[in-house]
Amino acid sequence: MAKPLVALLSGAGISTDSGIPDYRGPNGLWRRDPEAEKLVTYEYYMTDPEIRRRSWRMRRENRTLRAEPNAAHRAVAELERSGVPVRVITQNVDGLHQLAGMPARKVLELHGSARGVVCTGCGARGPMEDALARVEAGEADPPCLECGGILKSATVMFGERLDPVVLGQAVAVTKACQVFIAVGSSLQVQPAAGLADVAADHGARLVIVNAEPTPYDDRADEIIREPIGTALPALLRTLGD
Ligand SMILES: [Zn+2]
Repeated sequence: MAKPLVALLSGAGISTDSGIPDYRGPNGLWRRDPEAEKLVTYEYYMTDPEIRRRSWRMRRENRTLRAEPNAAHRAVAELERSGVPVRVITQNVDGLHQLAGMPARKVLELHGSARGVVCTGCGARGPMEDALARVEAGEADPPCLECGGILKSATVMFGERLDPVVLGQAVAVTKACQVFIAVGSSLQVQPAAGLADVAADHGARLVIVNAEPTPYDDRADEIIREPIGTALPALLRTLGD
């Protein structure tokens, strides 16, 4: 018998054990600090060089790039390696699912990646590491090496739309899966949250692993409130058997 397709939607809560705070959720750091939010708002970023210089300084100090995957990320990668088809849809930009061993092509990053940069002029992409090395060497706001355009983190800023290709793939995976696990997400940020509805509408078993109640709890087949670092590995072991 074919093994069921497991889709895992992960939010900030899966990475808190890795020391990464919730930046962008409804109660995230950025929403509580309007000055910090400007640094990740497209319009301010594109029109104000001082905002860009501060953004690059913030990226240099950002703990996200130095974080390590935790037991929950590793359990997801282990399930995939065991032969169960797994797709990850993540609201996180930390790249920790891939660092834990998930193949990059099986991870859909709804909000992009803090590990890359993209040119707002020509679309050229590159590693964040290289751009930060240029900042370190004295370029306060390093321009694109291809066209001289404004470089930004390859994350989706406030005021930017999600990549429609990535979103389309996420919806397709959600419709196709037999098990949909939402982990560490408050399910309050659209369109990620709506995926829980799509999964349930298409007959998937909906499991929510989150410390706090979510707006989709009444649709869930199973709700787990235990700490993610122990609860998710235990849950995924039952799927692997
Ligand atoms: Zn460019």
